[in-house]
Amino acid sequence: MYKAVFIDIDDTLLDYIPCCREAFDAAMNSLSGVAGLSAERSVSGPRLGLSVEDGLFQTFFEISGRLFSEAKHGLHTIAEVMELYPREFVERLSETYPQYLPAGKGIDEMTETFKHAFRAAWGQTHYLVPGAKEALDYLHGKGYRLFAASNSFGHLQRNRLKQAGILPYFEDTYISMDIGYDKPDIRFYQEALRRCGLQPQDVLMIGDSMTTDILGAQKAGLDVIFFNRRNEPLDPSLHIPTVSSLSEIQQFV
Ligand SMILES: [Mg+2]
Repeated sequence: MYKAVFIDIDDTLLDYIPCCREAFDAAMNSLSGVAGLSAERSVSGPRLGLSVEDGLFQTFFEISGRLFSEAKHGLHTIAEVMELYPREFVERLSETYPQYLPAGKGIDEMTETFKHAFRAAWGQTHYLVPGAKEALDYLHGKGYRLFAASNSFGHLQRNRLKQAGILPYFEDTYISMDIGYDKPDIRFYQEALRRCGLQPQDVLMIGDSMTTDILGAQKAGLDVIFFNRRNEPLDPSLHIPTVSSLSEIQQFV
């Protein structure tokens, strides 16, 4: 009954946390050089508890997570968040672990270094969520037109899909920075539908974010499947088709 499926990328097809960690490590190396965290990492033997490096990643993850969550509720655009989280993290680092920062550099310069190194590395990260390729194979085999639908930079997301070997499944990629609106803004979905020439009832949206993917797409008139990867508690009165692994989408489509 559907003609096409829109699929979110991060934490639906690509595994967000290991990708984020890889990009974070590259950005920290770029910022602190060989004297800082890479020295920490070269220490062999078992680690007890959180290393400084893990603790810093946790801090980074909390800062970026909070800002992305605020963006979901309209407090910032995704483009603003991409500028805000490197700055807030570098500011925090300069207060807590200044020894990991190059001497004599200002916050602005260090923020730019971190931000560019993170983005460059992020664009190469491509850990697949278990079952992602199989799900795309299944949907492609059923004859659906497939489109990626993500909040981020288009060129980075396309390169990540390419590196992961799944870009060829997609007829096109709808990425917020190219589309001009972020999910869950209804205009993101309207512009995506305009680009593929389909009506809302022709398209199914699959994603892991209740706010951006599910409620946003529903508001635009699309049917949805919620990929509840992190076992979030759900309001059963919403009656949202939900799966906990990608192989389960075959029940619905
Ligand atoms: Mg996602």
